[in-house]
Amino acid sequence: MARPNPPSAESQSQFPLMEEMHGPLSDRAALAESQRCLYCYDAPCIHACPTGIDVPTFVKKISTGDVTGAAKTILTANILGASCARVCPTEVLCEGACVLGHEYEPIQIGLLQRHATDFVTARGISVLDSPAQANGFRVAIIGAGPAGLGCAADLAALGHRVVIFEKEALAGGLNTRGVAYYKMKPQVSLDEVRLVESLGVEIRTGVNVGKDLHADELLSEYDAIFVAIGLGGGSRLGVPGEVGAGVRAALDFIRDIHEMPLESVSVRKTVLVIGGGNTAIDAVSQAKRLGASSATLAYRRKEEQMNAYAFEVAQARAADCRLIFEANPREVVRNDEGNLTGVRFTHASSGMEWIEPCDQLLLAIGQPKQDQLLKSLFPALALNARGCVLTDPLTARTSIHKVFAGGDCANGGMEVVNAVGEGKKAAMAIHHMLTGKPAVPKLQASRSGIARPAAGAGLWNPIRSATH
Ligand code: SF4
Repeated sequence: MARPNPPSAESQSQFPLMEEMHGPLSDRAALAESQRCLYCYDAPCIHACPTGIDVPTFVKKISTGDVTGAAKTILTANILGASCARVCPTEVLCEGACVLGHEYEPIQIGLLQRHATDFVTARGISVLDSPAQANGFRVAIIGAGPAGLGCAADLAALGHRVVIFEKEALAGGLNTRGVAYYKMKPQVSLDEVRLVESLGVEIRTGVNVGKDLHADELLSEYDAIFVAIGLGGGSRLGVPGEVGAGVRAALDFIRDIHEMPLESVSVRKTVLVIGGGNTAIDAVSQAKRLGASSATLAYRRKEEQMNAYAFEVAQARAADCRLIFEANPREVVRNDEGNLTGVRFTHASSGMEWIEPCDQLLLAIGQPKQDQLLKSLFPALALNARGCVLTDPLTARTSIHKVFAGGDCANGGMEVVNAVGEGKKAAMAIHHMLTGKPAVPKLQASRSGIARPAAGAGLWNPIRSATH
């Protein structure tokens, strides 16, 4: 499989701020931190994790020097434990739920999780049990992002033959090509892809279902299908002057950073990013770190209404980025030669109008839903009013027999860990549907809080759900 072009050594030294923001814990620091844990009964940190990682158990293992065992606890619950340790908003998930946070500092669960998963990856230690004996069932998964990989790992561990169809050249989804470089290097994601493949999962990259392969072929050749196609490319502003040189999707900019030597990534002098989510923050921070003289983020609402996490906003400010609020874009301004010179805004409260100068504009105003693609793949698939696949919340079943869905194409765009959790949920339901056996996955933590298919889950009525 082709790999992204890693930055050269000179490139790394040229852009030191592009190194991962949080360094790993030392062995001593990890040991000390793990020994602060209270190993709570019915620990809230487990329930706060969409993949139900048994946090107290893995932290306890680190505290006794069993770092390999800790990694096993993590990865059996969440095959993407290494990337989640870096990109999860732990402050609002497991660490946000930690009881120590009421009076003291919460346990640094994300850093401990990274410590354990990096430990086994760096040493090539295999911690996953061998998959169950092949049971003869075949499952196709469309999309090799976090939801697809999470589903594939659990199904493969249960003995199903799994094939993932991925239209991109590299598997891993946005973890491989859409996360800020200073948060996570793509190699972390690619190592996780290899881990899934080590369970016997076949990943066919460069295969675009709907173009290279008809979805009907999958329906006839496979016993079940899991749809995990994510969201589309970047949305557009829909204002005059937008189409032309100098304007691009922020996700494409971030993708370049993953796939090109850093010195080749196009960063202009005055960069303006429009948007208020984490992608906008990633883009503006990276533009500044890559050498833009000025990097400004413009958001149409107030700061407290941003989707980006407060700690990410603080980090952008710390990187010398400028943030402006209540800025409604009206027009992309160009000179007589057609070159980008700025964006005309009106202020949402005062109505004041001004032009914000820029020679590079990055749009991070969300990703469109894939409703048209979904309908072309599966015309009978029920979608909700937002253009997402309508699924049973307990089983990830769709309105079509033997078709399940999860991740961003079903939830509209959530965290990586939510996608993995939905993939696991679908895996359990698919296993239950195909074998009739209780869905107790091999890859699941003993105290996981993941919902299991309820009795009678097959009676879910998507049409009724759509109207309630
Ligand atoms: Fe440890 Fe905090 Fe989880 Fe309790 S809530 S088990 S102290 S990490």
